[in-house]
Amino acid sequence: MARVFNWQLGREMSYWYPESRPKRQFAAVFDINKCIACQTCTLACKTTWTSGKGQEYMLWNNVESKPYGCYPLAWDLKLMEMLDGQNWEGRRYDGRTLFESAPAGERVNGWRPESQDYAYPNVGEDDCTGQVDKGASLMTPHMNWFFYLARICNHCTYPACLSSCARGSIYKRPEDGIVLVDQQRCRGYQDCVKGCPYKKIFFNPMTGTSEKCIACYPKVEQGVQPQCFENCIGKIRLGGWISRPEQARADNPIDYLVHIRKIALPLFPQFGLEPNVYYIPPINVPPAYLTQMFGPGVEQAVAAYKSAATDKDLAGLLCLFGSTERIVTRWSRQGDIVTGTEENGSVVMRVPLNEPVHVRPAYDRLYQIARVNCP
Ligand code: SF4
Ligand code: SF4
Repeated sequence: MARVFNWQLGREMSYWYPESRPKRQFAAVFDINKCIACQTCTLACKTTWTSGKGQEYMLWNNVESKPYGCYPLAWDLKLMEMLDGQNWEGRRYDGRTLFESAPAGERVNGWRPESQDYAYPNVGEDDCTGQVDKGASLMTPHMNWFFYLARICNHCTYPACLSSCARGSIYKRPEDGIVLVDQQRCRGYQDCVKGCPYKKIFFNPMTGTSEKCIACYPKVEQGVQPQCFENCIGKIRLGGWISRPEQARADNPIDYLVHIRKIALPLFPQFGLEPNVYYIPPINVPPAYLTQMFGPGVEQAVAAYKSAATDKDLAGLLCLFGSTERIVTRWSRQGDIVTGTEENGSVVMRVPLNEPVHVRPAYDRLYQIARVNCP
């Protein structure tokens, strides 16, 4: 085992390979508060990449309702039990990661789902934590609550799938940090399926190999966001590039949200993988539950998110979500206009901070028609 630095844990940790970060790391921010569980992302991915034989059960992108939803069944509950205590001292994780708690002779503390664990991808959908009384009014945090968690592969900095594979069939691309399976090398041992705690790598019984989310790398190579980002109805997703904390730039959208405003947090950082999908936590959920899921920065992140109402920079950047198919690498705000640019400096999007409102009469005298649901 090597010693590597994991900034999400605030300390060094053990990992099978020495630290080797890519030239740049693909990353994303998902705003949970905006997800409506329409599953358009799930279908956009499914029809693009996993419509073949042996892939029927695979959802490289899935959306589950928390606290009761899970795909595969109980994936997160099992990990919570296996970690056996998770202690944070401020922003430093003092518990053991999945690498540090691995049984003797194994590289990762993992488990492999049975085929029936994948059979109920919508289990717990829209189930809230209790009965909603008749006449109850909306308030936060809700007395009863649920939220939607959209999940893809996190293209982790320290992938457990990669370190689990004794055959060396999984690799992290040095140019963008995207994690891929070499289909020619893979022999279907499925140690990766056991090792990935997020259960985002899948065995294909027809090909005898493991398959996973590829971050739509042919699109990313063209400066375009992945299918599940581009098709997101709720505009909850922003793709881009993340720097190490000490190299964070305020004009990089992902850096600004993750490192500078600390409004977006990793999913189960205590696993130790340094995942690269970051979540803006829901504002309607008790902090204790969210802290277990996103680490100790939850209350600060929720407070920062709520401050967007009076913070033009933050509100402006949040307006860029879903505004363009292109990957925005730099952003700025002048007055009420937010601008997103590509790496070469060309402007890909200008978004007004406040959408102009046009009120039209319900009856249009010119065309002699009545408008319905027409703002
Ligand atoms: S498309 Fe967007 S809003 Fe719809 S379920 Fe997926 S992440 Fe949520
Ligand atoms: S989420 Fe799982 S499949 Fe994706 S890189 Fe991390 S360990 Fe590998």
